Amino acid sequence: MTPGGGERVEGATAHARGSFAQAWACAVAGTSYVAWGPAELAGYLLGLTDRLVDLLVADDFDTAPAVQVGADLVAAHFTGTETLSRSLVVLREGLPPLVRDCAPSDLTSRLTRAMGALAGGYAAALRERALDEQDEIRRAMFEAHRQAERRLAVSEARFHTMFTEAAIGIAIGDLGGNITEANPTLLKMFGYTAEEFTRRNVSEMVHPDDAPSVWQSYEELVAGRRDHFRVEKRFFRADGGVIWTHLTVSLVRDEAGAPAYQVAMLEDITERHRLQSELEHLAYHDPLTGLPNRALLSKRLAEIFSRPRTNHRIGLCFMDLDGFKAVNDSQGHDVGDQLLRAVATLLDRCCGPGQLVARMGGDEFVILIDSTTTLSQVVTLAEKILAAVALPVRLGGHELTVTASIGIVEQPVAATTPADLMSAADITLYWAKRKGKGRYEVFDRDRVEDEIAAYTLSATMPAAIERNEFFVEYQPLVSLADEALCGVEALVRWQHPTYGLLTPNRFIGLAEETGGIVPLGGWVLATACAQARQWRDQFGESAPFVSVNLAPRQLQEPGLVSEVAAILADTGLPPRQLQLELTEQAVMSDEPGPLQALGALNEIGVRLAIDDFGTGYSNLSYLRRLPVHALKLDGSFAEGLRRADSPNAADEQIVSALVTLAHALDLTVTAEGVETATQLQRLRALGCDTGQGWYLARPGPPQQISAMLRRGCSNVNADATTNHACSHQSS
Ligand code: C2E
Ligand code: MG
Ligand code: MG
Repeated sequence: MTPGGGERVEGATAHARGSFAQAWACAVAGTSYVAWGPAELAGYLLGLTDRLVDLLVADDFDTAPAVQVGADLVAAHFTGTETLSRSLVVLREGLPPLVRDCAPSDLTSRLTRAMGALAGGYAAALRERALDEQDEIRRAMFEAHRQAERRLAVSEARFHTMFTEAAIGIAIGDLGGNITEANPTLLKMFGYTAEEFTRRNVSEMVHPDDAPSVWQSYEELVAGRRDHFRVEKRFFRADGGVIWTHLTVSLVRDEAGAPAYQVAMLEDITERHRLQSELEHLAYHDPLTGLPNRALLSKRLAEIFSRPRTNHRIGLCFMDLDGFKAVNDSQGHDVGDQLLRAVATLLDRCCGPGQLVARMGGDEFVILIDSTTTLSQVVTLAEKILAAVALPVRLGGHELTVTASIGIVEQPVAATTPADLMSAADITLYWAKRKGKGRYEVFDRDRVEDEIAAYTLSATMPAAIERNEFFVEYQPLVSLADEALCGVEALVRWQHPTYGLLTPNRFIGLAEETGGIVPLGGWVLATACAQARQWRDQFGESAPFVSVNLAPRQLQEPGLVSEVAAILADTGLPPRQLQLELTEQAVMSDEPGPLQALGALNEIGVRLAIDDFGTGYSNLSYLRRLPVHALKLDGSFAEGLRRADSPNAADEQIVSALVTLAHALDLTVTAEGVETATQLQRLRALGCDTGQGWYLARPGPPQQISAMLRRGCSNVNADATTNHACSHQSS
């Protein structure tokens, strides 16, 4: 810029240039995205205006500054499509007035060339800028691509490392189940080479014990209906061994979501499984014998009972060794343990497939027979077991012989529950024990019901005595020589408020077990003695003696003798008028108590009779040492003599021998169960002293006896068939 030009420029007022710059700013505003306000924009364009004015008035005209102004517009982001054209219009019209004072002669030419240069500079800068932008995009694209490749490579490498070094087995397969890749861990787990393994198909990897759900899940996965499944599954190794795995199979889909291939991951859990089964074995087996324990039996029963109910039947033997405590006490616990092990072994040998032998604890064992067809099948097994147990065993230098008792239950599964089955077997075992041990008993539901009813009865017995629900009937004991009434047997009955009239066989047995017989027996004794005393008062010497049944339990009561003495004293009945009936078992006791009681009763002067003689351990020579006065021959002997034409010869001989022996021992003989005239005649002919039975008289109320006594004979009424004795005499 020349000094002369400078003066000219000075000549153009700053105000005019400012106004022009504002007009230019107005023209281009909105044509481009420039982040300036109107004032800033005008300021910037004022700078460009100054440079263009200077250029136009310069002594040496040069277009280069115009080129630069064009480039600077682009640099300032005036890149809109209309920016240049609008600027050129404004400049072409607005610049000449600004240089009017010092305008060169060639102003129009200069203006045209300057505008051309500005447009050229603008276009060049715009192109340059576009190129730069493209370049940047390309560079960015290139960079992005390179990074993606690098990432892919990294992730591929990472995958490869994971695949080859993973501690779990990994296999990749197509949807047809063909294995395409398997990692080294998997190959080692299965014992195959990579070639061998990749020749295989998933379908060859079935284990016979696979749950059906495993293969169902697999089918769903390859069909694309599920994305993964997890199971515990067994596989066969190349060497035939079995491995347990935790298997996860996942489906991999393509970009479109269609199933593409499958990935299986297998964790070897064989060791964990082994430990688990060891623990399970410990939990379900008895450490002493190695047999399944109560828990396993319960589990097996639960399985059997959970099956859909069909007509499936089940059998159970509940076995208990007899007298095992004595072995433990006498031989020591070591021998006891050895015996239990020996029994466990032989039980195991007796049983076959489908039969489970379990030790319940102590000396109790259970044999469970799944699927039985008949009771006899279970009975046969029980017999086999009893025979095997009864064989002598050698333990620690001793030869031991034990027996066992077994309770048998055989029932349809649908008719019972595990708890009921076990309790039925338990009850039945108790029956076998009670019946004498070394034997089996078979469960009988009716019998249980009877027992339950009997228990209920015996529990209510003491209150029933208080309420006077019991009463005594009397049955004549008749002299066979002259058919005269010599005694009466007192027989108790219970007029039960709910069950009606109950005969003694409904409640005596249980009262015996529960101890209820002691107060009841005492009451009968007192009642019968009082009655006998009454007859004695009324009929004097012709009054009968009273025969009262005494239960074994009563004989063991220490207070029996004093009780009898007190009753006799209270009633004033002469002791000779009282006879006590005892069973053979009761008097055969090993204990001294009952024998001493018998001695003491004899001392008092009471008569003693052996009831139902011939049904127990008949031992006459033993009886010889007892203070007994009478034998009552069991009704079964009379039964053998029922028919006149063909009496049982053996029975006849036995009765004859018994009578001879009894008489030799100074015992009187009473025949029980005389139901016919024939029996009466035969028993009389065989030497029996007295008879008792329906043919002679049925048990009845005391008035029946009183009526007989009043007539001076034993006949109560006109019914000759039921009360023969008196009709015979009175006829
Ligand atoms: P037991 O002492 O042998 O009494 C005879 C049983 O035979 C009575 O039965 C009597 O009714 C029955 N009997 C009498 N004649 C005949 C006959 O010709 N044919 C048949 N088939 N039976 C006949 P019951 O009264 O039912 O008594 C049954 C058993 O109950 C008695 O047998 C006795 O062992 C017991 N018992 C009865 N009363 C008492 C009692 O007060 N105390 C105790 N401890 N037991 C009693
Ligand atoms: Mg009797
Ligand atoms: Mg009897």
